Amino acid sequence: MNEVKEKKKIGLTTRIFIALIAGAIVGIALNMFAADVDFVQNVLVNGIFYVVGQGFIRLMQMLVVPLVFCSLICGATAIGDSKTLGKVGVKIIGFYIFTTMMAVAVALGIGLLIKPGMGLDMSQIQTAEVAASSDSVSFAETLLNIIPKNPIGALANGEMLQVIVFALIVGVILAKLQDKTQLVTNFFQQGNDIMMEMTMMVMGLAPIGVFCLIAKTFAGLGFSAMVPMFKYMGAVLLALFIQCCGVYQILLALLTRLNPLRFLKKFAPVMGFAFSTATSNATIPMNIDTLEEKIGVNRRISSFTIPLGATINMDGTSIMQGVAVVFVAQAFGIQLSPADYLTVIATATLASIGTAGVPSVGLVTLAMVFDSVGLPVAGIGLIMGIDRILDMARTAVNITGDAVCTTIVAHQDGALDKSVFNKN
Ligand code: ASP
Repeated sequence: MNEVKEKKKIGLTTRIFIALIAGAIVGIALNMFAADVDFVQNVLVNGIFYVVGQGFIRLMQMLVVPLVFCSLICGATAIGDSKTLGKVGVKIIGFYIFTTMMAVAVALGIGLLIKPGMGLDMSQIQTAEVAASSDSVSFAETLLNIIPKNPIGALANGEMLQVIVFALIVGVILAKLQDKTQLVTNFFQQGNDIMMEMTMMVMGLAPIGVFCLIAKTFAGLGFSAMVPMFKYMGAVLLALFIQCCGVYQILLALLTRLNPLRFLKKFAPVMGFAFSTATSNATIPMNIDTLEEKIGVNRRISSFTIPLGATINMDGTSIMQGVAVVFVAQAFGIQLSPADYLTVIATATLASIGTAGVPSVGLVTLAMVFDSVGLPVAGIGLIMGIDRILDMARTAVNITGDAVCTTIVAHQDGALDKSVFNKN
């Protein structure tokens, strides 16, 4: 039975990757040969691909709130005492902030090295209207927003941080009251089982969803539009690569002694999924699942740290923001001081906390980073056009950061089963 199950799983992973590559090929072909064919654009690209792709994202999103809510309550109940929970919480937040700061530093370094904005003739490029404006959220508000005024409202609106806080409190109380509230504990446990089953069902559709999403993206993305921004893109992608394959893997090897290559290989489908959807939130169920079944991380840790990470830990996003600062400063001929760079590290870290795990929000919080060092917010218009592909790549890094930090904390907490990791 187990063997059959495992065979099916490997099949799914492979199918997701085949779908990803096939989607890219079909998308590029359509972009090159059928960009002006109305039928193809209306019926296929903006019709079938759009509806099926978005439908799949919505199915994943449908899972998020009930899954996180139930599994966090169960996780907190299992951990039991609030002291251990607090210890895990403080540790994971520490790791999240540390890796984000590293990410911005890497981004600034690469930006200064590659100098993406040098020689850019600003007069040639039209800056688009930026919706971001200056309504950046203050630090105090970000902090206060963690506490839900109305937990039901938080659930209804998908305010993840507030949902996390409320679920943790409920879980701790259930653990404390034990027999008295057994019925409610069982209720949430069964809710968790239902949501896990639903996740499996939705995941079965992943290859079709991924194919349509990628095909639509590539069909719409003219390669020529990318040329002037090539250096900027290259700098962001290089910094993302260094963070993902360098910083994370060194931390992982040093602190857990796990084999980084093996980790990347096992985790790759989750990255592929994050890449296709550009949505950290939608990746939460798959991330928790993969960490448990392939890496060996106990759910009592990941059910708490992964949703939290998808909400507050956006290393990929802060990398884009770091490079964007250098790019726009160079393009506008603005000289930034060392103190400015420190400010960027601080604000990009805060922006990462304030960025929701959905597509393109990193561009909105970029306004806050630009504001902090006096860069023109209109500069965001420069990079808007090519942001989608970078959004995909940075989301993959965002969720890898969550998984690496979670694995480290699980290891330190005795919640990592290395035999699962070492199994093929
Ligand atoms: N799309 C990113 C995510 O979901 C957020 C962003 O950078 O826009 O993690």
